[in-house]
Amino acid sequence: MAAEGLILEIQRGTLHDGPGMRTTVFLKGCSLRCAWCHNPASIKREPEQRKRMQNNQLIEETAGYSMDSDSLISLVKRDLKWFSSTGGGLTLSGGEPLLQSQFVCEVLEKARSSGIHCCIETSGAVSRESLEQCLPYVDLWLYDWKHSNETELRQWTRANLDTIRNNLNFILDRGGQVVLRLPLIPGVNDTEEHWTTIGDIGKHPNILAVEILPYHAWGRLLWEEVGRPLPPDFRVPEKDQINQWILILENLLPQGKLKNRI
Ligand code: SF4
Repeated sequence: MAAEGLILEIQRGTLHDGPGMRTTVFLKGCSLRCAWCHNPASIKREPEQRKRMQNNQLIEETAGYSMDSDSLISLVKRDLKWFSSTGGGLTLSGGEPLLQSQFVCEVLEKARSSGIHCCIETSGAVSRESLEQCLPYVDLWLYDWKHSNETELRQWTRANLDTIRNNLNFILDRGGQVVLRLPLIPGVNDTEEHWTTIGDIGKHPNILAVEILPYHAWGRLLWEEVGRPLPPDFRVPEKDQINQWILILENLLPQGKLKNRI
């Protein structure tokens, strides 16, 4: 019997979740609590009620539904033509997809056997078993690197830096190809220690690119939709500040590795 997963949302035709045009599946459930999370409805590991505005009307809906791996693959395969003409494929994101590793592994295996390029976006705060299970089927890892200081990382996200660092090394040592993704928040992680660490990690040949994701504020309101108190009001970086970060990172990283996604 095909494994069932808990899904928040499926987006077709995405352009920022790996190469080419992709179908991105956002799975529900995350063990972290990043203070700047832009997808709070993906945190809870069960369906929940959400209120949101649509066409100037307040609608109430259930966020989260079950789907088995066969149904998901049939749906993803509708876009095979787009995948082959743009070099795209399937991306599993979240929440944290690897919390549903049995389902994820099955989906990846089926996607790969249909010739679909597969990406996983992960925080790295996951069990080693889940990585080992999925590693053979992942073409590209989109790996979040949120902070390089253990205490600060724990304070802002509840994550353990050693777990994230060791899991990244595990993927790299086994030949996994990685895009390192950096959510950048002024006053939180724009530190010397963070830049230096990213510069060191970025030298690894299997880190194909380092992508910066400057903080933006629109995600704050999504917390209200799921009935949670608003997160801290972080400062949105000005263009000048983003350019300054780019300069710093360009000097520390091998040429051409830095990508800026705003
Ligand atoms: S890892 Fe992602 S989904 Fe989980 S809390 Fe952090 S930003 Fe939100």
